[in-house]
Amino acid sequence: MPEHTLILEASQILTCPGGSAPRRGKAMSDVGLLEDGAVAIRNGKVEAVGSQEGLRDRFPEAERIDLGGHVLTPGLVDSHTHAVFGRYRLDEYELRSAGVPYMEIARRGGGINASVRDLREHSESELVELGHARLRRMLEHGTTTAEVKSGYGLNPEDELKMLRVIQELAKEEWIDLVPTFLGAHAFPPEYRERREEYVDLVVREMIPAVAESGLAVFCDVFMEPGVYTPEQTRRVLEAAVQHGLVPRLHADEFESSGGAELAAEFEAASADHLGAISEAGIAALASSGTVATLLPGTLLFLGKTYYPPARRLIDAGAAVALATDFNPGSSPTVNLQVVMSLACSQLGMSPAEAFVAATANGAAGLRLADGRGTLEPGAPADVAAFDVPDYRLVPYLYGSNHCAAVWKRGVRAH
Ligand SMILES: [Zn+2]
Repeated sequence: MPEHTLILEASQILTCPGGSAPRRGKAMSDVGLLEDGAVAIRNGKVEAVGSQEGLRDRFPEAERIDLGGHVLTPGLVDSHTHAVFGRYRLDEYELRSAGVPYMEIARRGGGINASVRDLREHSESELVELGHARLRRMLEHGTTTAEVKSGYGLNPEDELKMLRVIQELAKEEWIDLVPTFLGAHAFPPEYRERREEYVDLVVREMIPAVAESGLAVFCDVFMEPGVYTPEQTRRVLEAAVQHGLVPRLHADEFESSGGAELAAEFEAASADHLGAISEAGIAALASSGTVATLLPGTLLFLGKTYYPPARRLIDAGAAVALATDFNPGSSPTVNLQVVMSLACSQLGMSPAEAFVAATANGAAGLRLADGRGTLEPGAPADVAAFDVPDYRLVPYLYGSNHCAAVWKRGVRAH
């Protein structure tokens, strides 16, 4: 592999400047746009971004790649996925399309618990094979870093099995995975009538075992009326912090229950969904380091007619990220570009804000401190090339995959 590469003839380059800190307010509009530029890559890292002539003169010995008018951006960072699972849930999709609500399907034993039963029946090697193909599709859509959660095992053995699958998939060098323990995703069928006992199991057995295994960085909880109460969530997150796992939270997805406020109180890395966040929740996130991660694809796919208040979050000073929520029940897409389209047409975000949210702020929500999500000098050379002359066409020409090439740490991966 060439150690020194110069990617030339990009019609536009977005560097998404600002280091590893979350971008807030007006800073979310700064994509660091450069016209007719070039990117120099050395030993897997961005060495320089600048004018074509300047970099040609500076690095005459570098291997040259002529891109012919594409847009270059940091590799996309998908900071909320459930990418390890068994089968798709097509029968449930059909029920929902006939008007049966998601929470009703869950009460009938469908929803997350359908994936739990299914996951327990799959071997680790089967899950690795399924995951491998799905991650490959994420890469083809421009994603070079993804968070992946457990949460379909819901017992000590199967949760650890999921985390081992994520670890195995993370050995692929073309995509970086960040693992999250989500034992508090739902209540498994065998604990349906004994919810507090399941919380005990998560707190006393699963979190210590996960922490000891070193297989997860984060601990997440699905806090929502009918799922985890604020008190149960607090217990899980307290145990997580005690064991060195960093909190993140599924918060205020369908109904406001103080999830955003609790995430801010725990200094969580992110509060995710926020379709029903309260005014107090917006204020809490705006004055915290917690990234507001919005997943509008989920609400679209579930047929909801409301979206999270991205505009008010950004204007209040919160850092907003976008992610797919890729999962077999409520958001079976790997395409962050279409999530950006939703952000622009439904959430009132600009194309520039959508790109920052899907790159730098995704990385900030995963607490990645190496410059990922940017094309600044020193950052890993994770680069996505989109086959359009103007970056705004990526969300505008919605529904298609515009990603034509991807470099992971300077190596062509797609
Ligand atoms: Zn989720």
